[in-house]
Amino acid sequence: YDVIVIGGGPIGAVAAREAAKAGARTLLVERRKEVKGPIACTGLVSPRTIPTLGASSESILREIRAVEGHAPVGSTLLLRADQVKGVVIDRISLEAELLAAAESAGVELLLGTEGRVEKGGVATLISDQGEERANGKVIIGADGPRSGIAAKFGLSSSAPPLLTIQVEIEATPKEKDKVDIYFGRELAPGFFAWAVPAEPDRVRAGLAVPAGTNPQPLIERFLSSHFPSSDVLSRVSGLIPSRPVSRSVADRLILVGDAAGQVKPLTGGGLYTGGLCATIAGRVAAGASLSGRTDMAGLMEYEAEWRAAIGSEIRFGLASRDALTPLDDEGINTVFLALDDPELLRFIAKTGDIDRPSLLISALIHRPWLWERVLPIIGIMDEQRRARTGLEPLG
Ligand SMILES: Cc1cc2nc3c(=O)[nH]c(=O)nc-3n(C[C@H](O)[C@H](O)[C@H](O)COP(=O)(O)OP(=O)(O)OC[C@H]3O[C@@H](n4cnc5c(N)ncnc54)[C@H](O)[C@@H]3O)c2cc1C
Repeated sequence: YDVIVIGGGPIGAVAAREAAKAGARTLLVERRKEVKGPIACTGLVSPRTIPTLGASSESILREIRAVEGHAPVGSTLLLRADQVKGVVIDRISLEAELLAAAESAGVELLLGTEGRVEKGGVATLISDQGEERANGKVIIGADGPRSGIAAKFGLSSSAPPLLTIQVEIEATPKEKDKVDIYFGRELAPGFFAWAVPAEPDRVRAGLAVPAGTNPQPLIERFLSSHFPSSDVLSRVSGLIPSRPVSRSVADRLILVGDAAGQVKPLTGGGLYTGGLCATIAGRVAAGASLSGRTDMAGLMEYEAEWRAAIGSEIRFGLASRDALTPLDDEGINTVFLALDDPELLRFIAKTGDIDRPSLLISALIHRPWLWERVLPIIGIMDEQRRARTGLEPLG
């Protein structure tokens, strides 16, 4: 093969489709025998994610216009926009569509097959039928957040992933276009919990926490405090990479999607970022295999392109997360109080973009009359950062 993609999740399917469209003889290997749920994904993405993945609107269940944040003390902030800011998708139908599109583009798909990769482009394919070997001029590792391929090549991120639990519950959300996010040490220390309307009478409720915190008792507490009388229909745990890998290419190898940690640090969402990177990965892998430049230097084009596309937002997200994570409940409550200004909330609701949070800051720079609301928040974050780290105040 010109290109072998290991991992037929959404990102591997897109990478394989793009490689085939660019003229590469492409094999896609997926461990699961069929695409079925439950899948550890809330399916909340920006509207632009759907065309970025090259998908149709078939899998869209809901349009989201509002997000309500809940502070530990119980106060809330509502951001409501006129425009659609997000969509909730049926992840299974999205994956099925992306795999079908890959096959239509000429990709050979092997389901129920585990791929193990050796250096030098050799893959061992293990299925119920036995073992066989396949050679790929370039291998794309799209094997998710526990990537065995990244580990094998010594490319795994040293930062441990976030731990998540998500349940699907039977509940009718009061507002069908609103997502709820809950902060606080009691529910989700170091990240947040969420409740997202999905299919009719279904809500996806979950939480993520840093490694070292057990999410199990927290989800029980979240469910009993917020959905005491709802039936739990399914429950799934999963990992979210907390940082990108330092290098995503090696000789004859490209990592993409969760395997490369291409995830938005503030939300854990990886479908938009991974999808964008997968189109680059497929094209570069095909070009390299057809031109014979499959060594690491030849594949660096991929590394440079994806970092140019999402690197600055990821850096912004990591810096913001590092500033927000140390906030204790009192700090979070104070930030909520400082944000509670109708003009500021309207501005955030209108300008906010879940894929490009840094745009909010650049837009704020041009609205000096809002600075007096925002500067105290930076002060609170700095105070708490100093209290924890003993560092000097920011100038
Ligand atoms: C609880 C939770 C909620 C989330 N919610 C959102 C959200 O709302 N919006 C969003 O954008 N993102 C969300 N994410 C993140 C999103 O799910 C991931 O970023 C996305 O699934 C990454 O896709 P992927 O194809 O890289 O990896 P995966 O989806 O993990 O797919 C990897 C595939 O590789 C296969 N595989 C692994 N190893 C092998 C092997 N050796 N051989 C063959 N096949 C193999 C696996 O079976 C799997 O199908 C969420 C994640 C979690 C855990």
